[in-house]
Amino acid sequence: MIVYSLHCSNGHRFEGWFASAEAYAAQRASGRVACPACDDRSVGKLPSAPYVNTGRGDVAQASVKPDGREGTPVANVMSAMKAFLLANTENVGRRFPEVARRMHYGEESHRGIRGRVTTEEAQALEEEGVPAVALPPALALGEDVH
Ligand SMILES: [Zn+2]
Repeated sequence: MIVYSLHCSNGHRFEGWFASAEAYAAQRASGRVACPACDDRSVGKLPSAPYVNTGRGDVAQASVKPDGREGTPVANVMSAMKAFLLANTENVGRRFPEVARRMHYGEESHRGIRGRVTTEEAQALEEEGVPAVALPPALALGEDVH
């Protein structure tokens, strides 16, 4: 599993999850990597390293791990990621910005959380340096928002 920070030619930024670097290259070459905001297929990688909030107070770098499964359908990867997220993170719903901040400033113990934020809230978190990662629409977990 590898996470890339991607951008389209219209300047939208989004995360892409791929089975491997080779899978990303193959999908991009065949026009199957599209911007979720405008469906643009001219997608490129941002130079910054992708990250997820591990809940351990550190930042885990996504690593390229060729595993010989380049042919894995994206749907399988997505369902594996969903299962991982559901098992390893606590759903805090709309309280995500508040809880993420409290963890960032050491007012709450670090743990993996998931939830929902508005575009403005996501931007504010990023400006404050609170680690969080946006999930692509295909990874929507279909949960009620509290
Ligand atoms: Zn776009």
